[in-house]
Amino acid sequence: MDGPNVVRRVAAVVLAAAMCGWLSTLAPAGERVRLAAARGQAPAAEPEPEAPKPKPKPPPPDCTRVKCLALTFDDGPTESTGDLLDILASRNVKATFFLVGQNVVENPDLVRREHQAGHEIADHSYTHADLGRASKQEIVSELTRTQDAIRQASGVTPKLLRPPYGSTSKRLAKVTRRMGMAQIMWTVDPLDWRHRDTEAVERRVLKNAKPGGIVLLHDIHPTTVRAVPKIIDRLAAEGYVFVTVSELFGGKLTPGEEYTELNSGEGQGLP
Ligand SMILES: [Zn+2]
Repeated sequence: MDGPNVVRRVAAVVLAAAMCGWLSTLAPAGERVRLAAARGQAPAAEPEPEAPKPKPKPPPPDCTRVKCLALTFDDGPTESTGDLLDILASRNVKATFFLVGQNVVENPDLVRREHQAGHEIADHSYTHADLGRASKQEIVSELTRTQDAIRQASGVTPKLLRPPYGSTSKRLAKVTRRMGMAQIMWTVDPLDWRHRDTEAVERRVLKNAKPGGIVLLHDIHPTTVRAVPKIIDRLAAEGYVFVTVSELFGGKLTPGEEYTELNSGEGQGLP
């Protein structure tokens, strides 16, 4: 083989390789996979789409100065939760959801949706157990399974627990302290689970709302979800600002302690 021929062949190979590389940068992703496959290479893995993160929120109001109220929804998520999320989104209201672990496992998409919309996600035990009467072992199991299910669905580790029935004990306080969760009670209970009556729920909440309060509702009842637009619109017209439970207390909640309302009258910010 003479000198010039070798040079020509090398040049041709280099040119072909360069063209191939150039073409593959021009080709769309699908084409690149086919080109790579045609060259006998494994296609480069496409990057995983990242889960959308919640939008950055404006700083919460100072609830020792502003008329704040926390709407809380227990026992979900379930079908009617989707309707409630639409209502809250249309009014730009953030709420707190105390979730039952076994419902989280059934409806992880709704938990993600709650989190992505900027609501606070919290724990309400795995089986809606009476934690005040439960053994230490039962408490740990109920709370750990719920925390794990919520973390798996949304990436969030809740910092709040609402004990079902408001039933608590020294034992529960000890476990929640160790697990980093404050216990959250309420100031307004319209008994929406007993009386499935939209107007009665509206009336009772509107009558008993007060600044620094926490409203107990259940998004598993469509009758309750239908009461939410009027509750928000009326109270907003009275100057109320709706916040999550952690926002209500300015983020100053101590694990293991029980909280019922923000007692802003004493200027302490804590009950
Ligand atoms: Zn409950």
